[in-house]
Amino acid sequence: MPGKKFYLTTAIDYSNGDPHLGHALEKVGADCIARYHRLSGDRVHFLMGMDEHSQSVIQAAARASVVPREWVDRMAKTFADYWRRLECSNDDWIRTTEPRHVRGVVALLERIQQQRPDDLYVADYEGLYCTGCEEFKQPAQIVNGHCIEHPTLELIPTKERNHFFRLSAYGQRLLQLIATGAFRVEPEIRRNEVVRLLEDGLQDVSISRQRLPWGIPFPGDPDQTVYVWFDALINYLSATGFPEPGYERLWPADLHVVGKGITRFHCIIWPAMLLAAGLELPRLVWAHGYVQWEGTKMSKTAGTAVSLDTAIERHGADALRYFLVREVGFENDGNFTWDRFDARYTADLADTFGNLVSRSLAMTDRYRAGVVPTEAGESPLDAAAAETIAAYTRAMDAYDLQQGAALLIELATRANRYVEETTPWKLAKAKRDGELDQVLAHLVRTVARLAVLSGPFIPVKAEEIWTSLGADRSLASLRLADLTGLAVAGWKVSKPPPLFPKPDAD
Ligand SMILES: [Zn+2]
Repeated sequence: MPGKKFYLTTAIDYSNGDPHLGHALEKVGADCIARYHRLSGDRVHFLMGMDEHSQSVIQAAARASVVPREWVDRMAKTFADYWRRLECSNDDWIRTTEPRHVRGVVALLERIQQQRPDDLYVADYEGLYCTGCEEFKQPAQIVNGHCIEHPTLELIPTKERNHFFRLSAYGQRLLQLIATGAFRVEPEIRRNEVVRLLEDGLQDVSISRQRLPWGIPFPGDPDQTVYVWFDALINYLSATGFPEPGYERLWPADLHVVGKGITRFHCIIWPAMLLAAGLELPRLVWAHGYVQWEGTKMSKTAGTAVSLDTAIERHGADALRYFLVREVGFENDGNFTWDRFDARYTADLADTFGNLVSRSLAMTDRYRAGVVPTEAGESPLDAAAAETIAAYTRAMDAYDLQQGAALLIELATRANRYVEETTPWKLAKAKRDGELDQVLAHLVRTVARLAVLSGPFIPVKAEEIWTSLGADRSLASLRLADLTGLAVAGWKVSKPPPLFPKPDAD
């Protein structure tokens, strides 16, 4: 039976510099959510991509002495390579320079022109422009003459004639949709910020720029280029095939994952654009916090980036994925430090999770030639696993990835204690075979359940564990609902390779 549709997206990234840990948190977190929903049996469609029309692309290309097209091709490859290394399982990859996207942007604008012609108009605009945000900043967004998000960039005084979108007409409607839950913004702290902005009243927004050499020509006015944010937001819709028939199979999106700094675009401007075009709104926008490095936001322009290569190479991609969601989290800001990364790796992954897997499989190999005995009756581990599965489901459904990851390690800790309590090596020595059978069977079953539950976080290690379990079916074929009654008798386990090797002590 096909599951229910679950279409999720990440923000698309500017093609103006290499990805850093801040980008990685968002993509990894969204990937954990995508993998969890597949595990739940949903029909997942997971979109990632690149925002390639920004002014900063023109500048970056010029600095590299290449044309913008060559530059964005290069950057798209760089980003995609990193996301593959981090095991991102996106089903689609959209670039805003693709024809399918350009078609979607033009179609959306034309639809607004038809449905709400008064909502688009031409006017002069004068203001301070931030090239980091690619937007005009309001006085409340400026501190000491600089953009709040980009304190090292100069704001550029800009005056030009532009097309405008009557955003001011949509505040009350959006407040109602948020109040009824028809359009959700999470977590609550972000929803409150958005509600405050809406209550303060909205100003109309410029949706075109004059004669930019790199961008989508404004429909009906080739002297103007579609403003990069207006262009970029539409990627979530154009990737569904809009306006071609059939796009409704995916649209509306069930979840947009974005950073907390761009909620105004995703929770106000984007839904207003869709309302103006008579299209359905995304169900939920989840705005995560930032990765902080020594107390400041990780970003290219803030100049605090730590190399993503170094972070991946330190303990492998799975360990970095685990650390980002477990320690930094997906709701508030969190710190990244090498000390904490090493400590989590050793305590959680090597000494707890890895240790449980290796000792359980090694003892089954040693005492039962690898053949898993038949379970008879319950063990304390079954009760612990049932509680873990229920709590894990609640946490993951609420996008509490930090808690989901913590629950895995708690169950592994409980199972390690079970080994100490039951002392299988003493049972073997005393030839208490029936008892030893039970202990080994329950341990292997717990390892199997943990392999499944850990898949969203550490997909490569989960597969390695699954291979060592010698199971009678593939890991990908298992669903959460299969875990309670999971039968492991007769599986032929083998000793796993070192899952989380400790770096050489020196
Ligand atoms: Zn800015």
